[in-house]
Amino acid sequence: MNEFDLIREYFTWPIKDPSVTLGVGDDAALFNLEQGYQLVTTTDTLVEGVHFSASTPAKDIAHKSLAVNLSDIAAMGAKAKCFTLAITLPKIDKSWLKEFSDSLRQLSGHYEVDLIGGDTTRGSLTITITMFGIVESSKALTRSNARPGDGVYVSGTIGDAGFCFWKLSNDLVPSNQEIKRLNRPTPRLELGLALKNLASACIDLSDGLEQDLSHILKASSVGAIIEVEKIPISEVLLDHIKGTNDWSIPLCGGDDYELCFTIPEGNEEALKKVSEFCNVNITRIGVVSESLGLQVKGYDGLRKSYQHF
Ligand code: ADP
Ligand code: MG
Repeated sequence: MNEFDLIREYFTWPIKDPSVTLGVGDDAALFNLEQGYQLVTTTDTLVEGVHFSASTPAKDIAHKSLAVNLSDIAAMGAKAKCFTLAITLPKIDKSWLKEFSDSLRQLSGHYEVDLIGGDTTRGSLTITITMFGIVESSKALTRSNARPGDGVYVSGTIGDAGFCFWKLSNDLVPSNQEIKRLNRPTPRLELGLALKNLASACIDLSDGLEQDLSHILKASSVGAIIEVEKIPISEVLLDHIKGTNDWSIPLCGGDDYELCFTIPEGNEEALKKVSEFCNVNITRIGVVSESLGLQVKGYDGLRKSYQHF
C-alpha cells in the first residue's frame, strides 16, 4: 500500500456540505463562503509522547485530535465547517489506520464537518488538524473584551482530565469515565454559538484554568478575582482535594476543553436559558477587576502550569 492508496482507503469520504466544492484529490480544496461571514481557522497538533501515550487507542487519538480543534472554533463562537488532516505515521498499520479513520469519520459526521484534504508523511506519530469555520463578520468571541465588573464563568466541571492524568502518572488506575474525560473531550460548540451575543470574552480550557483565564485578562488589560470554592468540581476530584488540600489540579490541569468566559452584569437570566438550552452547567467563579493579574482566593499552595518550552 502506497501513500495514495492509504489516502483513498482511509481518508477519502463523501463530502456532505454543499458549500465544499472540491475535497480530497486535487492540489487544494475549495469551499464557498457566504457574504457577511468571516473565515475562522485554527490548528492543533498532537504528538505521541507529548499529548498522548503510546498505549492510547487509535480511536481516542482521532477523537481528541478533532475535538481539540472543534473546541477552538467553539471558543470563537463560530460554526465549524470542514478540516484538513496532516498525519505522520511511523509505518502503515492497517488495523490502526482503520480504527483511527472510523473514529475520525464518526465524530466528524456527528459535528457535520467534512474532511477536505491533508498530507501524509512518514515519521514519529503526529496528527495535525486544521479546522475551518465561519462566523458573522465582527461577531467572533475574542479574548480581548473582558471589562471590570463582568462575571467569570466556566462550563461543565474543571480538573477531570488533569485528575485522570495525575492518576496515570502515579500508577493509579482511572475509571473509564475519567479516561473518557482525558481522551475524549466534548467540544462545547453549541455553547460557544449561544454565547456569541452574550459573552465579552471567551477561551477554551486546554492548558489549565489559571493559565487560560490569564490569557483573557492579559488580552483585555484587566485582572480577575476567582474563588477556588466556587470552581465546579466532580465528586471524585473533590474527595481528592479534601484529602490533600491540593487545588493545583483544577487550577493547572489541562485538557478539560470546557469554555471559560466573561459576561457583563445583567445577563444572568439569559445565561440560565443558554445553560438549559445547551444542557451544560455554567458556574460563576469570580469577577473581572480593574487591578491587573489573577487573584485566586482560598488557595496559595504550589502549582505549575504546563508549558512546551
Ligand atoms: P500534493 O502533492 O499536491 O500536496 P498530496 O499527494 O500530498 O498532494 O495529497 C493528495 C491529495 O490527498 C490532496 O488533495 C491532499 O489534500 C489529500 N490528502 C493527503 N493526505 C491526506 C490525509 N491524511 N487526509 C485527507 N486528505 C489527504
Ligand atoms: Mg502534500
